[in-house]
Amino acid sequence: MAEIVFDQIGKTYAGGYAAIRNLNMTIRDGEFLILVGPSGCGKSTALRMIAGLEDISEGRLMINGAVVNDLAPRDRDIAMVFQSYALYPHLTVAENIGFGLRVRGMDKAEIARKVDETARLLELEDYLARKPAQLSGGQRQRVAMGRALARSPQAFLMDEPLSNLDARLRGQMRAEIARMQKLSGITTVYVTHDQVEAMTMGDRVAVMKGGVLQQLGTPRSLYDRPANLFVASFMGAPAMNLLEGELVAGHGGIEARFGGVAIPFSAGVLAERPGVGRAAGRAVVLGVRPDVFQPVDGVNAPSSAIPGTVAFIEDLGADLLAHVDVEMADHLKALATEQDEVALSAPRLRVMIDSTRRVSRGERLSLVADAARIHLFDAATEAAIRD
Ligand code: ADP
Repeated sequence: MAEIVFDQIGKTYAGGYAAIRNLNMTIRDGEFLILVGPSGCGKSTALRMIAGLEDISEGRLMINGAVVNDLAPRDRDIAMVFQSYALYPHLTVAENIGFGLRVRGMDKAEIARKVDETARLLELEDYLARKPAQLSGGQRQRVAMGRALARSPQAFLMDEPLSNLDARLRGQMRAEIARMQKLSGITTVYVTHDQVEAMTMGDRVAVMKGGVLQQLGTPRSLYDRPANLFVASFMGAPAMNLLEGELVAGHGGIEARFGGVAIPFSAGVLAERPGVGRAAGRAVVLGVRPDVFQPVDGVNAPSSAIPGTVAFIEDLGADLLAHVDVEMADHLKALATEQDEVALSAPRLRVMIDSTRRVSRGERLSLVADAARIHLFDAATEAAIRD
């Protein structure tokens, strides 16, 4: 069991590249923490520092209160599971799981007990005599985890362990890893660039960008209260719509204006988010998740509605994702992440529509959004405007 603390940690690679800047973060004992961000943001570097595989340029890394900056990897009692879960092909599942224990000289009966216990946890009891080649991808993944788990390490580190699996299996393994982590209670740090994994697996999520921690919190808090534009656009699929506008004091309140549309923020919303009232006169970015837009009939549309035309529709089963061309396309802000290529190539609004409502290509509709559910960001600093 371990608490892991990053205290003002920095990492500069030879050549001068600053991969991590002033990272302050406490990973709690027993916690499942997800480290997420786009490629190159420093996730693996942070993980490798915990394992002791990367020198620390600045700050202190502590495990259970002891500074471990100079502690060798083998003395840290930490297990790492990588993307390529190399199993020994000539050994059985039982031998693979027990491998690390044998190497450490644990006695046979104790190894057998540990292997059985681990196999039960991972539901691998029926496969113990098989060789890796006789297993499915998911089962192999479980054996790889079993091998790490059998050692009862202080902490588990996982670097994109599911990226080699197909989508169906990935979904299954997401749930399985989360379940196993809870059962074992071992502090786990899990690196991914996949925001679905980030939203669904961990207790808390640390979002990184360019070597800088952007926000640390529960998946729900990051989704509901993103600290800045980057977190807002990174978390959630399909991605949030971003519109550039201005906050203006008028009509006895505050409204967001862009391209002929005015969205009023009621006294209720302002009471909940006093920062919005103070931001009058500022250039802002409005963030509207695809499920927050409601299509309304053009004739009855209020002045806060955005008129548009359905360019195309993706049928997602329970919902339809409509891509809507709008006249004020110059107010649409391209996403900060690469996760939505469609949005980057054509500035359109993404609107999630219940599949029971009929909508067709070329249809004209007006979109309204509940102001209480619209996120606001300062256009200059990209920080959320809220409190
Ligand atoms: P991530 O895991 O988020 O994709 P990494 O932690 O692997 O990111 O890398 C962060 C940054 O540091 C990247 O820009 C990468 O190119 C750079 N980097 C990683 N390893 C080295 C190295 N050994 N030498 C120099 N630069 C490196």
